[in-house]
Amino acid sequence: MGRRATVLAAFVMVTCLLTGAAWWLALRDGLSRLAERGQADLALSGDRLTGQLQRFREMAVLMSDHPEVTALAYHPDADPAQATALLRRTADVTGSNELLLLSATGRVIASSGGDVGQDRSGQPHFLRAMQGALGFAREIEPETGHRLFVYAAPIFAPDGPVAGALVARIATETVEVTWRGDPMIVFFTDQSGVAFVSNRDELILARFGADQPTPELAAMAGEVRLRERATSFGGYDIWTLSGGPHLPERTMHLTRPLPVVEMTGEALVDIAPAERQAGLVAAMVALASVGLGAVVFALMERRRALADRLAVEAEANARLEGRVDERTRALSDANEQLRRAQAELVQAGKLSALGQMSAGISHELNQPLMAIRSYAENAALFLERGMGDKAADNLGRISDLARRMGRIIKNLRAFARQETEAVNDVDLGQVIAAALELTEARLAAAGVTADWTPPAHPLWVRGGEVRLQQVLVNLISNAADAMQGGGVVTVTARPEGGRVRIAVQDTGPGIAEPDRIFDPFYSTKEVGAGEGMGLGLSISYGIVKGFGGDITGLNRPGGGAEFVILLDAAKPGRKAA
Ligand code: ADP
Repeated sequence: MGRRATVLAAFVMVTCLLTGAAWWLALRDGLSRLAERGQADLALSGDRLTGQLQRFREMAVLMSDHPEVTALAYHPDADPAQATALLRRTADVTGSNELLLLSATGRVIASSGGDVGQDRSGQPHFLRAMQGALGFAREIEPETGHRLFVYAAPIFAPDGPVAGALVARIATETVEVTWRGDPMIVFFTDQSGVAFVSNRDELILARFGADQPTPELAAMAGEVRLRERATSFGGYDIWTLSGGPHLPERTMHLTRPLPVVEMTGEALVDIAPAERQAGLVAAMVALASVGLGAVVFALMERRRALADRLAVEAEANARLEGRVDERTRALSDANEQLRRAQAELVQAGKLSALGQMSAGISHELNQPLMAIRSYAENAALFLERGMGDKAADNLGRISDLARRMGRIIKNLRAFARQETEAVNDVDLGQVIAAALELTEARLAAAGVTADWTPPAHPLWVRGGEVRLQQVLVNLISNAADAMQGGGVVTVTARPEGGRVRIAVQDTGPGIAEPDRIFDPFYSTKEVGAGEGMGLGLSISYGIVKGFGGDITGLNRPGGGAEFVILLDAAKPGRKAA
């Protein structure tokens, strides 16, 4: 949570920085364009003012040379009527406010207005004219408040000294009127900082500079103050004005010196468009940044959610694996128990089979024993009578019988033995022969004949000799049980595919419930007396499966049951001996 807050704070900071930078750059760019255009306009306005004043200046100089003017100047006491008429005409034509002719003493000797006789000797522009130069001044008429440009041209006497001055007074409105409608605010200030000429009424005689105005202007300009504040932005002068509804509030201040008229041209350009544009750019940058931030944030959130889910899943997986391990251990324990139980069952089954066979076996062993006894007794008699040949013959028979008994006992011992060996290569013919020999008495008792033709070549299979013999004994015994009234049990063995197929067929009544015969304790035989434990086939099933083989039991179409065992064939040549 803390990390998320930090990231958010950093993001907000970066967004603010970006937005600020975009605003600053856009505003500076906008201002530079405004300044460029403003400077061009200001230059034009300055040129226009200078040009108009130049005309009046030239007019004053020309008039000072007029014969009627000079005539009166040389003889100030002559009749001024002609000169006055000239001055009036000229003032009308040029739009000058007033044209005056001053004597060398500064007295008005002729005028387009009515000031004749007044003394103007103290005025600076007159003094300057009397020195032979062109006097120039700005004036404000105290009575009317009119602002005037004043030119004073010297009138030279033929022999040298200045005989008087021609003064032209021009109202500023005359020049202002031509550029009143311009969109850009322009004003011209003298060194005191008072706006003497402007294309906006509000600015006339306004004072912007910090300097003191000249006393005569200060008297009029007094307290008109428009500028609230002056700041700097990117090298530009930004003025905040409080000039009423017709003046923009925030402006850029531009200046341009006009030395010819001893003034400074100044302009105020509305910067609202540049500010609006900068605001727009900044808003767009902010929006884009916030949008991008939102996308990044959403992605981060999704990644975090994914990571969380993965962690949860990993934990669940670990738990699951733990449980699987536990189960696997339990299962292998159970398997081990099952294997032990199976081994015990096999042994129990064998003992049960031995019990079943015991009658037959004792008969089997008794018969040769009785025969041996009578052969031995006869042999003794033959020896007594000196019939050595016959006695030897009997001894040979005894030997045969003893060998036969030995074989039976060996088979029994092998059958009862608990086999420890796993799976190896077994000679199938020998196992079948031994199984038949063990069950011979039983088959004989039931009147059943065995049909077994050993294969031409030995058949080797994968299995355990003792256990495989047990399976066959079991199948043959079951066949004998099923055919108590006599019949034939046929045993065959042949290769099939990569395996060996062993079949035990009988001519009995067939299997009552083929689906259930391999179930433990399923038996249709009478309980007790060693018969019908219902374990024989289930044990056989386990043994054959343990060899990697298959065992099936079904009824033959022609009657009787058939049990088929499929075992893997041993690799040829491995057990040729
Ligand atoms: P048990 O022989 O002790 O009954 P088995 O598992 O060996 O147990 O046999 C189970 C049952 O399968 C027998 O009770 C019998 O019903 C049936 N069965 C086995 N072999 C044959 C056969 N050759 N013919 C008919 N039924 C058979």
